[in-house]
This record gives sequence, C-alpha cells and structure tokens, in this order.
Amino acid sequence: MQSIYGMLGISPEVEQFGERVLAGLQERFAQIDAVAEYNQAKVLAAMQKNRVSAECFAGSTGYGYNDQGREVLEQVYADCFHTEAALVRPQITCGTHALAVALSANLLPGDELLSPVGKPYDTLENVIGIQPSPCSLAEYGVSYRQVDLLEDGSFDYDAIKAAIHEKTKLVTIQRSKGYQMRPTFSVKQIGELIAFVKSIKPDVICMVDNCYGEFVEMQEPSDVGADMIVGSLIKNPGGGLAPVGGYICGTKACIDRCAYRLSAPGLGQEVGASLDVMRALYQGFFLAPTVSAGALKGAVFAANVYQALGFLVIPNATEPRHDIIQAVQLGSAERLIAFCEGIQAAAPVDSYVKPEPYAMPGYTCDVIMAAGAFVQGSSIELSADGPLREPYSVYFQGGLTWYHAKVGILMSLQKLYEKKLVDLRV
Ligand SMILES: *Cc1c(COP(=O)(O)O)cnc(C)c1O
Repeated sequence: MQSIYGMLGISPEVEQFGERVLAGLQERFAQIDAVAEYNQAKVLAAMQKNRVSAECFAGSTGYGYNDQGREVLEQVYADCFHTEAALVRPQITCGTHALAVALSANLLPGDELLSPVGKPYDTLENVIGIQPSPCSLAEYGVSYRQVDLLEDGSFDYDAIKAAIHEKTKLVTIQRSKGYQMRPTFSVKQIGELIAFVKSIKPDVICMVDNCYGEFVEMQEPSDVGADMIVGSLIKNPGGGLAPVGGYICGTKACIDRCAYRLSAPGLGQEVGASLDVMRALYQGFFLAPTVSAGALKGAVFAANVYQALGFLVIPNATEPRHDIIQAVQLGSAERLIAFCEGIQAAAPVDSYVKPEPYAMPGYTCDVIMAAGAFVQGSSIELSADGPLREPYSVYFQGGLTWYHAKVGILMSLQKLYEKKLVDLRV
C-alpha cells in the first residue's frame, strides 16, 4: 500500500495518519454500507418491476414519440421514490433548471412562494426574483416570502404559521445546507415540517430541493409527504455516469404541469428525444446508491481527519449525515489553496493543473475550485471549492469511489503537510 500511495505522492506520515483515523470509523462505514444495500435493492426492485430491457437503451431522435426507454426510466424513478409520476430528462439542463421548471409550472400570477428554511440556494435568487432578473417568478407576479431558521438551525414554527395565508401556493424546502453554515435536514425533520405546513393549509404544494441528498438515507422526502422532489443527474442519482440531466418526481398533477412547462402546453411528457444517453441514465441510477455511499464515506473520513487536526468541521466527526457535503474551516488562504491543490492533484482528469483563485460572478472575493471530472462540473465526482475570505472554509464533496475520495483527502493533507500548514503529531 505504502509504495503505491508513494507513487501518487503521498508520504508515509500522511498515509499513517489517515490509517489511524480510519481505524476508528469501521462502525460508521458499516452503517453507510447498510443504507447502500437497502437502496440498491430499492433501485433494483423498481427496475425489475418495470421490466427494463435492452430496448430501453436504444434512444430516440426528433420528437421522441413513443420513446420506451424514456417512459420506463421515468416510471423507474417514480417507483423507486414512491411517487405517482416522474420527469427525468436530458433536456433538463441542471438542478437549477429542474427547480425552475417545478416552481414556474406550479405557481401562477398572484400566488405566493414560501421558503420556511431561510435563504434558498444562490442560483434560485434569480429564478425567484430575490435578485431582480428577466423571466423571474417575481416578474410574472409570483410573490415570495421567507422565514429564517432559528438561531440553533431549527424551524421557526410560529413564524411559519404566521407566514402562510390564502395566497401561499407552494412551499420550497432545501434539504442540503448547500454553501451555508446551517445544518442539513434529515428526511424525518422534513416530514415534520411538511406535516406542520399541511396542518395549516392542506392544499399547499410542498417541494423539496433534494440536491446532494439522494440515497444518503433509506427514505427520501417523497416518503414523508413531499409533493415534488427535485434534483440534478450530475449529482447523486446520476451515479457519475449520467452526462447531463435533472429529475422531478411527484404527484401526477404536479408532474403533468412540469412537463407542459418543460416542453409546451398540450405536448407535455409525450415529446423529448432521449438521444444516446439512456443507457448511462439507467446504469448511473443503478450505481447511484453505491456511488453516494462512497462519497459519504469520503465526507465522514474528511471530517474525522480535519477534526483530529483541530479544525472546525461541519458536520462534525460523529454527527449523523443527511447529504454528501463536508465543510472544513481552514482559517487561512494558504491552507484553503493547498487543500484545493491536493484535491486537484488527486483527480483522474486534469491532475497536472494547478487551481488558482479567481473572480466569479456573484462573489465579492476570489474563489478557488478544484475538480478533475469526467463530466463537466459534476459534483458527485471529487471536487472542492471555497471563497477566499474569512473563515476560509472549503466545501468538499463527491468521489465516484470511496478509494478515490480517500486519496483526495490524503492528498489535500499532503499539500498542507508539505507546506508546514498542519502538525500531524496530534
Ligand atoms: C447543486 C444544487 C442546486 C442546483 O445546482 P445546479 O448547479 O444548477 O445543478 C440547487 N440546490 C442545491 C442545494 C444544490 O446543491
């Protein structure tokens, strides 16, 4: 082992430090494996029930009428996530697009959208119109209301109750913390919130932004009352193989509207050629429980390595996980840059590239990003990024295999160690 890791540029000190941390994680990893085993069976059962066959991989062109592969895949997603219907398409360009379709399809002028979990993901600010933007929901006369989380990260039930009124049509709940410092919600917590909202207004539509959460638990938000769950195929459910796409699973009433919004009124789900991506979408979904488990092990390992070195990590080394993101507060620009250099150096693609901080739209400071992915921007593949400002936190996620995630974390530590930015004798 030491010689092969040596070939990758990892020194014996770093490797041994990693092994000491890993020795304490066996039970944790066994729990992750048990969830993956359950979810593998869940995906398999949905594929068998829907008689997935080689014909499903053929794809279609043009209008895409009678595209068997597309129709069966959507039924597989619906059955796996226990929803009436699903929209799973390469025409959904990313997670933000999927969320924008779900929102704009189900909100009409005069309706109000409520986020009871604080500020939504950055890219949704333009979709909703929190940041004024052409074609935003605000421009179409959909108003927006937000209830922030309480100091301790829990739901402000009193304020949520007060914010629901006759115009409230749709409630959006973001499962993952994204790039905020709040906790990620468990499926159980999301279920409690949905039940509360529905007890006040039974016909309100509850949508969950499920990005980064798929297959982390045995249940999904659709099992606890969500009318729609939404996500990206270049994150967990694509299993690293999907080259593009997004999904929306939910009630037939909601999904029908989403399909009309995505294509055109009257056309809906009947059109949309699947081209040549079907095999990858099926195979990726089949692998997704295992791939997500590998990424989760990487996140747990990273938390334990960096907490042992004295850094603040969110989530911490021992708490339960509800998504695959790990934040590490590194405390200095030098450490943040070294960490990202290590992740980049560990990549299978573009490992020879050195990431540099640069100005990004929407940020008031430089940002550094590390990724060497088979699919552009895929964040189920090993990647890390962080803004160069206090407290110099890095957000780390992905890894198509646990072993690659492990190499990435060891390599990040190697770079810190070489630059004398950490002390391994703790
Ligand atoms: C990734 C993500 C999105 C969507 O991002 P895209 O880059 O458009 O796929 C939305 N919400 C959350 C919480 C996310 O993590």
